[in-house]
Amino acid sequence: MDPRTLDELLIRCMRCGDCQAVCPTYQATRDEVAVARGRIRLLRAEAGGMEPGPKFREALSTCLLCRACTSRCPPGVEVDSLVMDARGRMAERDGLPLAYRLAFRILERPSLTRLAFRMGALLQGAVLSPAWKDGLMTPRRFVGLGGRAAPRLRAPFALPPGRARGGRGKVALFPGCLTNYVYPQVGRAAVEVLRKNGMEVVLPGSGCCGMPMLAAGDRAGAIRAAEANVELLGGVETVVTPCPTCALTLRERYPVFLEGRDSHDAALEMGRKTQEICTYLGGMELREGKLAGKITYHDPCHLNWGLGVKEEPRALLRSLGLELKEMARPEACCGFGGTFSLKNYDLAVQINDKKLEDIAGTEAGIVATPCPGCRMHIEDGLNRRRMAQRVLHPVELLAMGYGGGDAQG
Ligand code: SF4
Ligand code: SF4
Repeated sequence: MDPRTLDELLIRCMRCGDCQAVCPTYQATRDEVAVARGRIRLLRAEAGGMEPGPKFREALSTCLLCRACTSRCPPGVEVDSLVMDARGRMAERDGLPLAYRLAFRILERPSLTRLAFRMGALLQGAVLSPAWKDGLMTPRRFVGLGGRAAPRLRAPFALPPGRARGGRGKVALFPGCLTNYVYPQVGRAAVEVLRKNGMEVVLPGSGCCGMPMLAAGDRAGAIRAAEANVELLGGVETVVTPCPTCALTLRERYPVFLEGRDSHDAALEMGRKTQEICTYLGGMELREGKLAGKITYHDPCHLNWGLGVKEEPRALLRSLGLELKEMARPEACCGFGGTFSLKNYDLAVQINDKKLEDIAGTEAGIVATPCPGCRMHIEDGLNRRRMAQRVLHPVELLAMGYGGGDAQG
């Protein structure tokens, strides 16, 4: 970012402190370094020539990039963009850790990513063992990692055979990494729901959206991932994704970080034609489905604060006849935040514990959420607390509803 633009953005913070009421890291720590205002103060000091020290690095590393502060901020300061930009400066200055560099180079190449996850699926039994919760695995004691649980890896997502019923048009599905490799059942459900509502679905073979690289400060990697997707999806009219973070990245971030490049016009076009799947389905006349059960809904930050989508997923769930029991703070962050939870697991658990209490308070057996990252972190928490609730994407519930039955069955 141009230093003058950075100065202009930083100066907009009027230090009102309104962000304290919604920032999940401040709510958990009560530390001024862990809130938008404190982070901006340190960024201003850096812009003024301060040498980045441990406090500065902590302020950057503990931001969830959730955008809750921007929703509350009177001048609308986009702290997530400022933090990502600063992480980019740190990465240029110090370099990224080897593990990140390796992971990002793999994520940039879909064929390599597929191979890596296939190998992971084959080898997971050697280092992981089944967790308390069905379908989750936890590292064996010698591996460490504090017993966190994650889904058992299965075969990656592939477009299921079949055709659309009705011929209402064509969409390209952009699954995103977590749907491709961790929750392929969500991709299959998305295809089933789209086809049963008359849409032909194509899978142009898209890779990572680039957000993991952008969040870690690997700007060049994010640009490569974005330009590959812009080219791959250039010929399609509508792109639909089941992942809110991918939707936010394709819709809003590509046009910003590809500015000034040849691909910028195509990025603007990508922004216009991409939709998160609940939003897309919410704008259609859908066939009727029916499902019994009591559910609650968690708002993913990138869908709620990022794209302003709150009602559409709830309307889809209600349309099935499900009983929606709202939790106390459905919009409160679950504590995932991508690499945030990898680097700051204790703080991520502290934030997650509040979400689990809110879920327990609803007595619902299902937590619906469209975000695969939130799902992974909430499932880890449910396993940690020995809570029996299942987490599902709204399109999985829709697909179940088209078969009829009980969501808890
Ligand atoms: S993006 Fe989220 S974690 Fe970061 S300062 Fe804003 S509210 Fe806090
Ligand atoms: S709400 Fe916005 S203006 Fe107020 S202190 Fe936070 S970042 Fe600054």
